[in-house]
Amino acid sequence: MQNTPILPPANLGILGGGQLGRMFTVAAKTMGYRVTVLDPDPNAPAAEFANRHLCAPFDDQAALDELAECAAVTTEFENVNADAMRFLARHTRVSPSGDCVAVAQNRIQEKAWIRKAGLQTAPYQAVCKPEDISDASAEFLPGILKTATLGYDGKGQIRVKTLAELQTAFAEHGGVDCVLEKMVDLRGEISVVVCRLNSENVQTFDPAENIHENGILAYSIVPARLSADVQQQAREMARRLADELDYVGVLAVEMFVVGDTHELVVNEIAPRPHNSGHHTIDACAASQFQQQVRIMCGLPPADTRLLSACCMANILGDVWGGDGSEPNWLPLQSDPHSHLHLYGKKAARKGRKMGHFVTLAQDVDTALQNAQRLHTVLKK
Ligand code: ATP
Ligand code: MG
Repeated sequence: MQNTPILPPANLGILGGGQLGRMFTVAAKTMGYRVTVLDPDPNAPAAEFANRHLCAPFDDQAALDELAECAAVTTEFENVNADAMRFLARHTRVSPSGDCVAVAQNRIQEKAWIRKAGLQTAPYQAVCKPEDISDASAEFLPGILKTATLGYDGKGQIRVKTLAELQTAFAEHGGVDCVLEKMVDLRGEISVVVCRLNSENVQTFDPAENIHENGILAYSIVPARLSADVQQQAREMARRLADELDYVGVLAVEMFVVGDTHELVVNEIAPRPHNSGHHTIDACAASQFQQQVRIMCGLPPADTRLLSACCMANILGDVWGGDGSEPNWLPLQSDPHSHLHLYGKKAARKGRKMGHFVTLAQDVDTALQNAQRLHTVLKK
């Protein structure tokens, strides 16, 4: 049963109906599948396109019973209830597996897995109780104290320079499990999206170079401005990690580019399509969402080839007017080389991801410049 390909018009289920669920739904519907989305938000971005929106909490048994009727189920986020995943796995095909999702939920486990795969992380120490902080912790200073679970967009992180600051930061986090990570000599950040059905069927997208503003991803450019060697190494590392986890699905691997030698260090993984892979819709032979559909259906990943240099720019709620008025869409919509994606979210809040656009160009520097220019004029 596990190996029989699932074909249209089968019904596919997804936990979570945010923008990732929305782009998954569009991809699946385009291929002729039906889609059921579970999300407690009545305005969930994916609901507009889904055949069925189960508007209920993620642990609602009646909703999970319905989702279990789907031919296969996937997820758009990692903080999904492990019991819900286990329940679904008893009734239908679930990818990625609950075990793989659990690894990504906890930075302590995640780093242990990365090292087990023979890959580097920043030097780190788990800090779960006050006694874990000792003179030996000085080795990881200056560093960042990150909560082990539930961090995103730089939330749940405190920078510390001394042991005293470390103690205060641990107390500030409320004594929850943390990871103390040594600051590395960051020269850049990249991510690789790997698509894996099994050991014979694996594809990686070209690494994306990520540019953050205020702790939130602002631009991703592809190809990354790194040597071909380093890029190849990044793809191999992502693949090795997916193999080590016997991963089934789409996995994003974030890496730091460290020092003059551009050594690659794995930061974290996301068991799903990733913000830095949104360009794949407009600039690659297949998108990361098409890959998610294919793999959950037991089909091999499609060609990941990059068809054009590009820049993805996030559109945050910040560019809406204080009175809720729309941004200045005309320049962007008039540009023949840019593609707008809006997520249909009702309220534009500061820092909220409302959409993105992808600008294509002959080379990546031009793509970045054009995207920055178009982004600047969004705000009236
Ligand atoms: P996101 O949701 O954007 O992935 P996050 O909350 O999961 O963010 P991290 O990815 O761990 O947090 O870190 C956020 C940013 O902080 C990184 O993108 C990087 O710029 C910086 N950073 C994190 N760890 C280190 C480190 N060890 N050395 C230097 N810079 C770091
Ligand atoms: Mg991160």
